[in-house]
Amino acid sequence: MSVDFSDDLRKELGRCIGCGACNIPCPMFHIEDLRETEGARARIKLLSMLGSGKMELTEEFLSYIFTCMNCGLCSKVCPVNIDVFGAIINARSSLIDMGYVPLVTVDMREARRSTGSPIGEGLVKGVWLPPDFQPSPNAEILYFAGCWSHTVPEVALASYKLLQQVSESVTTIGFDEPCCGGLIYVLGERDNAEDSKNTLIEAISRLSPKSVVSGCSLCNSVFPDLGFISFSSFIEKMLDEGKIKIRRSLKPKRNKIFLIPSCKDNKLASRILSRIKNIELLEVPEWVCCDCGATLLYSTDPDRFSRWLEKVTDIARDLEANQIVVEEPSCYSMIFKALGKNKHKGAKIVSFPHFLLELIT
Ligand code: SF4
Ligand code: SF4
Repeated sequence: MSVDFSDDLRKELGRCIGCGACNIPCPMFHIEDLRETEGARARIKLLSMLGSGKMELTEEFLSYIFTCMNCGLCSKVCPVNIDVFGAIINARSSLIDMGYVPLVTVDMREARRSTGSPIGEGLVKGVWLPPDFQPSPNAEILYFAGCWSHTVPEVALASYKLLQQVSESVTTIGFDEPCCGGLIYVLGERDNAEDSKNTLIEAISRLSPKSVVSGCSLCNSVFPDLGFISFSSFIEKMLDEGKIKIRRSLKPKRNKIFLIPSCKDNKLASRILSRIKNIELLEVPEWVCCDCGATLLYSTDPDRFSRWLEKVTDIARDLEANQIVVEEPSCYSMIFKALGKNKHKGAKIVSFPHFLLELIT
């Protein structure tokens, strides 16, 4: 199978000088014990060879190029300013436009058609809301939970309660909250992603809230035009403005914290946590982050997602963490699904909204 990438994409891929800087923060590279073919550099190099006709597209390569953590960390470090992750998404979109659709995309398309969300898994939205909940128009804050949050109702509820500490006027779209389209965008499904985003914009416009706080950081990073503020950014802003206060400190046996941050701004949650008295925030390797983008790896290659989790929890254990705080609801949900019936031994795993709620109220 041969491919025909656009001139712009071929030029962008061809600018790579092969330095390997993008491998350093790449979680796929670390999951596979620094194996070169798994890192971001190999992805760019192989795509470049594919675009210039030096290699043929195989089914195996197609699935390889669509499967990564979608963290975007590779784009932050390239010395010649290649938007590495952007180039990977563009290549995925081009492949889809040419009719090369990997199975993962077919599955997510089907899940989106049948459940309104690409994550599927019999998703029922709004289970954390009272059965008679009705959205309020013109609210101060609209909480957009995001697809994964509905699978961990206690996390969605904790986030909602935290927002209620800031304002009495908080609402949500409710039981039929549309997906923002961020996940299918990173999969390369541009048209379907745009479609999802527009459905969401319509649902929000009907309610005319003053601001929208998103429980999923992928939505804001992929679609800044949505004008959402991420949950963590909003909490930081409210702390800065004194609208909420951290009232409690951590007990010595619970104060060694290992944070799994969102990939989109991996310093934000640690800035918030560093305001807590007594906290010992452990140093986490750069490649440790996780958000909705990891869905692709979690769904297509659960063993590798589990290997990532094992490596991360091993580091937390070596650092003698007593709590692992997970910033993103999506990541928290995937971690618990991956653990399944295997009871996790070691540090307690807690979601960021829960952790904050205990200290703020
Ligand atoms: S997006 Fe993340 S996982 Fe994917 S290639 Fe880049 S650094 Fe690696
Ligand atoms: S950091 Fe940039 S130049 Fe270096 S290998 Fe990665 S894409 Fe190529």
